[in-house]
Amino acid sequence: MNGLDIFSLAGRRALVTGANTGIGQGIAISLARAGAEILAVGRSSMDETIDAIEAHGGKVVPVMSDLSDSVGAAAALERSWDELGPIDILVNNAGIIRRGDAVDFSEADWDDVMDVNLKSVFMLSQALARKAFTEERPAKIINIASLLSFQGGIRIVSYTAAKSGLAGLTRILANEWAARRINVNAIAPGYIITNNTKVLREDPVRSAEILKRIPAGHWGKPEDIGGTAVFLASAASDYVHGAIFPVDGGWLAR
Ligand code: NAP
Repeated sequence: MNGLDIFSLAGRRALVTGANTGIGQGIAISLARAGAEILAVGRSSMDETIDAIEAHGGKVVPVMSDLSDSVGAAAALERSWDELGPIDILVNNAGIIRRGDAVDFSEADWDDVMDVNLKSVFMLSQALARKAFTEERPAKIINIASLLSFQGGIRIVSYTAAKSGLAGLTRILANEWAARRINVNAIAPGYIITNNTKVLREDPVRSAEILKRIPAGHWGKPEDIGGTAVFLASAASDYVHGAIFPVDGGWLAR
């Protein structure tokens, strides 16, 4: 293997959840440009992502699945594997956020976030590992964590609990599966311009506070996460296990 070939994803198939918009869309496009065929998983139309990938000659197949039903999502992964072929890369990106003071936070806002942001990640990872072990194939799992995997945050209690849990999940799955050729790692994006952060960006006080703390001096864009995803999906990261990579404009270094 020479030069940049080590980052090539030619011949690989990558399942990306929440690929219709935001960070998931940015990652799907980056993986496709590195050569991977994309299974774009989610509950909304994938047309925008399909157009962007096909414009560069890439291959993408939409797979409709609501990740609040984690058993159904795992079944969709198994079906995709059986019908379309082995999955080499799983990007657990889909996520939701609910805001409110902890003292008033509802059980539904706790459960909804846990189901999508943590339980479905585990169930999809388990489904992939079972298939990979049965067929004795290697695989790469990339979880999309958060600054809230390291910090407490404010008014997002279920999100912080889920993203902190996701850091632990990344480590334990790496411990159990590293010797069986599955790499489990995570990316912790900083403040990225997506639907998830719309409320913060529209709040002039919070928005200014956040911007002031980012050493890079600006918010990130979805495509800023793509390069690290390509690295973690490729042979370049074969000896990387259980790591959580901040891609945050320097926020955590502050
Ligand atoms: P986003 O634009 O709101 O995207 C969230 C994605 O998750 C969408 O594709 C959404 O699909 C999908 N999703 C949510 N619930 C789903 C469900 N039940 N079934 C299937 N798909 C579902 O936000 P984003 O910022 O790109 O978020 C992507 C990931 O990055 C999340 O895990 C988020 O926590 C994480 N993150 C974001 C930031 C940031 O600053 N933006 C920072 C750190 C981490 P729909 O469009 O159909 O709702």
